[in-house]
Amino acid sequence: MNSLWHGFADMGVVERDGAFVVARGEGAYIYDTADNRYLDATAGLWFTNVGHGRAEIADAVAAQLRRVAHYSNFGDFTEPATQELAERLSALAPVPGSKIFFTSGGSDSIDTAAKLARRYWHELGRPDKTIVVGRQKAYHGMHVAGTALAGIPGNRENYGELMADARTIEWDDPKSLLALIEEIGAERIAAFFCEPIIGAGGIYLPPDGYLAEVRRICREHDILFVADEVVTGFGRIGGSWFASSRFDLRPDLMTTAKGLTSGYVPMGAVFIAPHIAEPFFAGGVWWRHGYTYGGHAGAAAAALANLDIVERENLLDESARLEATLHEKLAPLAEHPRVAEVRSGLGAVAAVQLADSAEGLPMVKTLRAHGVSSRAAGQGAMQISPSFVMTDAQVDEMVEGFTRALG
Ligand code: PLP
Repeated sequence: MNSLWHGFADMGVVERDGAFVVARGEGAYIYDTADNRYLDATAGLWFTNVGHGRAEIADAVAAQLRRVAHYSNFGDFTEPATQELAERLSALAPVPGSKIFFTSGGSDSIDTAAKLARRYWHELGRPDKTIVVGRQKAYHGMHVAGTALAGIPGNRENYGELMADARTIEWDDPKSLLALIEEIGAERIAAFFCEPIIGAGGIYLPPDGYLAEVRRICREHDILFVADEVVTGFGRIGGSWFASSRFDLRPDLMTTAKGLTSGYVPMGAVFIAPHIAEPFFAGGVWWRHGYTYGGHAGAAAAALANLDIVERENLLDESARLEATLHEKLAPLAEHPRVAEVRSGLGAVAAVQLADSAEGLPMVKTLRAHGVSSRAAGQGAMQISPSFVMTDAQVDEMVEGFTRALG
């Protein structure tokens, strides 16, 4: 029965041990095919912000598919739901008046931003600005540009050169961006890509003042600042729609996906500040770029229903509550001899960093035996990024599961 090739897996192990099959979900819980219940510590891959089993989103998608599933967003085509979503997102954008370019997911959003940054400088008569810069530990999806830009060596190895014009700097020191500018010249650098919180690379919060400083450096040197908010967008950073809003980053480009639809159907969006869009909206220029399913009407309907839920149930406040609750309730785990540290305190995001990184994968299975579904990010960082509907009592239950699993 193993025709399915899983991503990021040793398929020999999956063949031997079998897959973990999620049959259904409800709120902060998922259920396997034997109907065993697990607290979903990660909200899938960081996306089920409104929780599992929302019939309202399913109904909105079904109604849209009955009208028209999708047509196209190339040329002058589009659909009402897609237009409505673009207006709504632009109104939430950290930079007022942003334009919205829809994609099929986060990796598409990154590729779109990397290409647009270069095209923008070309339009401005500066075609030598082609280099894109990322950080160690960073994850920017799995398309070629994103893989090359990101800073997880294992993900980049054994392909030959993925992309010539990509550079990696240290993840936590703005001086390393200045050093790169000194070395190769700002006149060759198109953009700097920055996850406000390092996510898949191990869940590392930005050092105090880091984001403001790299933002300042980019502005000073005419380097586009791309906030990769695929994880942090749509409320994952407590109390605000985007980390860029909370930290007043005003990104030139902002990449999103995941929480846009809470993962009910695939969709991504790139937010483009007005001054970047301007040369393309002035007329006489085509940007020859786009995806068949970019702005898919069914996905747009899911996103609109998802945003309705976030607003109606004040889920940005719930995410802020989880920021405080996770910080407080996970702290005692740091005392455990098998735990090196707990990273938390910004958004509904935390990591229980195991002392021995080799214990990450076995710990995923041990946690399941204690009713918790998590995953190992980076080097043995057990990921915690629950849906915003997880209650404080459920956080207690999750911490209990971790405590028992640690033994
Ligand atoms: N950027 C970041 C920060 C991500 O965490 C991810 C996925 O986890 C991506 C981009 C790529 O998104 P996708 O997997 O939807 O292509």
